[in-house]
Amino acid sequence: MTTDRVVVIGGGIAGLAAAHELHSQGHPFLVLEADDRLGGKIDGGPVQESGLAFDVDMAADGFLARQPEATQLCRELGLGDDLVAPTGARAFIWINDELRGIPSPSVLGVPFEEESVAASGIVSTAGLADFVDRIDQPAAALVGDASVGEVLRPRVGAEVFERLIDPLLGGINAGNADQLSIEAGAAQLATAAREEGSLREILRAQVAANTAAAAGPVFNGVKGGNRRIIDALDDELGHAIRTSTPAESLERDGGGWIVRTGGEAIRAGRVIITSPAWITSRLIAPHAPEPAAVLGDLRYGSAILVTFVIDKDQIDSDLDGSGYLVPRRQGMLTTACSWSSSKWDHYNDGSHAILRVSAGRTDDPRWVDMDLADVVATMEAELVPTIGLRGKPVARVTEWRNSLPQYRPGHLARCDRIDQLLAESAPGLTVTGAQMRGLGVPACVRQGRGAV
Ligand SMILES: Cc1cc2nc3c(=O)[nH]c(=O)nc-3n(C[C@H](O)[C@H](O)[C@H](O)COP(=O)(O)OP(=O)(O)OC[C@H]3O[C@@H](n4cnc5c(N)ncnc54)[C@H](O)[C@@H]3O)c2cc1C
Repeated sequence: MTTDRVVVIGGGIAGLAAAHELHSQGHPFLVLEADDRLGGKIDGGPVQESGLAFDVDMAADGFLARQPEATQLCRELGLGDDLVAPTGARAFIWINDELRGIPSPSVLGVPFEEESVAASGIVSTAGLADFVDRIDQPAAALVGDASVGEVLRPRVGAEVFERLIDPLLGGINAGNADQLSIEAGAAQLATAAREEGSLREILRAQVAANTAAAAGPVFNGVKGGNRRIIDALDDELGHAIRTSTPAESLERDGGGWIVRTGGEAIRAGRVIITSPAWITSRLIAPHAPEPAAVLGDLRYGSAILVTFVIDKDQIDSDLDGSGYLVPRRQGMLTTACSWSSSKWDHYNDGSHAILRVSAGRTDDPRWVDMDLADVVATMEAELVPTIGLRGKPVARVTEWRNSLPQYRPGHLARCDRIDQLLAESAPGLTVTGAQMRGLGVPACVRQGRGAV
């Protein structure tokens, strides 16, 4: 007996976006989620004993608005009136024992005006001179893919790269911008690099074009936190979602597929697979060995996010900003600290400071082997010099082990190859989500819906 039902493996945002699309089209579907909760890398909840009267995000607290897919999904889910923009407060870099404002304008963390870099005080005199020497030097247009470091180090110099670009672009995926595919991890910069000429002129033109085209904020969040997107999807689709139901294997079934889970066989016309790469790899290996091997080789970074809550009067800084990033070699475990109660109005109750502190890089995985109490104590101690923490905050720890895919150069070409080989050898199986073409929430929504 054939079925046209689509089985979606994984109830993170990519899988749920696929299910939402199927639901919108009136197509039968079933979502299988291994965990006992939906949302994957999106979650939120109370900070116990903090005195906060609201939940706080445990990972993503916002998403790019200029990639419209997540914003659009929120509107379709009835969350349009609760979309909010960050307060617009500026961000800092912790460098040489001081917080210094990130220079503006910039494109994905890449500054291009000498005056703003000089005024920031983030680079040394020699680093600034190196930047000025390089930023207008014509470079050969990028062909194919390369790492962000290979493309940008020669065009901005080592200091600007290490103190401004890597903390942002490497930090987004707990990785290293020297190894990150510019095409997959920083598409706007790849577009710039495909042009010949002065990087300053190319980025100036990009900013001018974006400013002209831009309507509204760069980022959006949802009042009450991103978890509400998952809860709204659950309300809409819950009748066709099974949690605590891991897909264990896939078998051919005529022109369709059978998904095995806990001794049960679920028939599917098509299967959309959004589980992390190493799990996807195991599922498709018998049917598509080469795509399975490529996915099996995809490395993930691990991050830890500690949410600290304390009375504002226990901090010397006025927290006038959205937070700070910590470049390598600054002697800290912390990689970033978001001042959430300043960044988002919905996290500002007037009396509490909410600080979301992260650690973890692929080349600095110290926290993974540390006692969690030591991680918290270290991060807490690091808040003393940076923002003048005086009291003892309440802390909530969220571990995100193997959560952030590391796109190496050539990643998008490998994704194309995966699609092509699956279509040839295992028609009806589609692999998507953060393991493929973008890990931000909008990219995952786009891919999930696109897979349908
Ligand atoms: C700490 C952190 C902060 C982030 N901050 C931001 C941010 O500010 N903005 C932004 O845009 N993005 C952010 N991201 C990235 C973004 O949240 C994720 O990349 C995205 O949510 C991934 O969605 P996904 O559906 O592709 O994968 P996942 O969320 O990983 O979902 C995959 C699902 O598959 C399930 N699964 C696994 N195996 C099986 C199986 N055998 N059968 C069935 N189900 C299975 C998993 O349990 C999981 O629920 C952040 C990520 C992290 C970790």
